[in-house]
Amino acid sequence: MKPGRIVVISGPSGVGKSTVVKQLLNQSPVPLVLSVSSTTRQPRPGETDGVDYIFLTDERFAENRDHGEFLECKEVFGRGYWYGTAKTTVTTGVSEGKWVLLEIDVEGALAVQKDGHFPLMIFLHPGSMEVLEDRLRNRNSDSEESIRRRLEVARNEISKSHLYDHVIENKTVGETVWQICQILADADKDGDAHA
Ligand code: 5GP
Repeated sequence: MKPGRIVVISGPSGVGKSTVVKQLLNQSPVPLVLSVSSTTRQPRPGETDGVDYIFLTDERFAENRDHGEFLECKEVFGRGYWYGTAKTTVTTGVSEGKWVLLEIDVEGALAVQKDGHFPLMIFLHPGSMEVLEDRLRNRNSDSEESIRRRLEVARNEISKSHLYDHVIENKTVGETVWQICQILADADKDGDAHA
């Protein structure tokens, strides 16, 4: 069986990653599955353990990290919480021919790339900082301090977007998902799947 591949999607908070990912999972031309990350942050209203994240205590997360259970894990910049990708989910999925999608931050993505896993790296770009700021403000869910911090983190992430294989400006969800589907189909056609 042809092995699958790791696909990474990153982008600043507020760019619309989760909406894109949700739609992409329904429309993907390759057998795409989402890797559910572990985190030490508390669940938000509406989030389910094991579906949105695996919610772990600080102690349990550290234990898993020390046992080498994460493919990558980071104390995500500006958040103060740990996030990590389970190694077995990814390696088992890829060996079963699945394309495993990681929605992770830039530092985590670069760690996976550096480790020689040949991820297909996609960065969702807001277009401009003004657009991103408008989106964050329109969510009405963040304090001024939180918006300021998210914008600072975003600036840092965008400055590293050139390290990705593809940078897509997320103008509309439909268009972005269509572009990612093209990228996945082309990568599959090229037959350049890497374990
Ligand atoms: P949130 O707490 O808003 O769901 O996510 C915060 C940030 O953590 C996002 O940028 C998200 O992409 C990133 N993130 C989520 N899971 C992981 C992971 O497993 N590893 C890394 N490095 N970042 C993650």
